[in-house]
Amino acid sequence: VSHFPQTAVAVNPIPPVVRHLDFGLAVLDITSGKGKSVRTDSYFVEPIDCADLAYSLVKTDPALVGTDPGNEAYAVNLTTSTCDCKGWHRHNHCKHLDAVREAYEEGGLP
Ligand SMILES: [Zn+2]
Repeated sequence: VSHFPQTAVAVNPIPPVVRHLDFGLAVLDITSGKGKSVRTDSYFVEPIDCADLAYSLVKTDPALVGTDPGNEAYAVNLTTSTCDCKGWHRHNHCKHLDAVREAYEEGGLP
């Protein structure tokens, strides 16, 4: 059960960090929230093979109960500025989309 206020979910006070692992894997660390509720979630990030510029995010630790328990993976589409998480459907933006766009613009994504 999430005890974080909904408004904190889309706030990224700390820029996302891309870590490149072996085997061509990359991990995107998304830090969100503020004050005592700041948290960092780590996702494997890889391009989705489609006509749009899109990335899949898969939680590196599915057992970790995050702000969205039960959801283990997200599809973030930079071309259409969409994400398939609950937060995006509710607010039309979310931390995944913000973080992937920022990491992409920094040139850090695979
Ligand atoms: Zn999202």
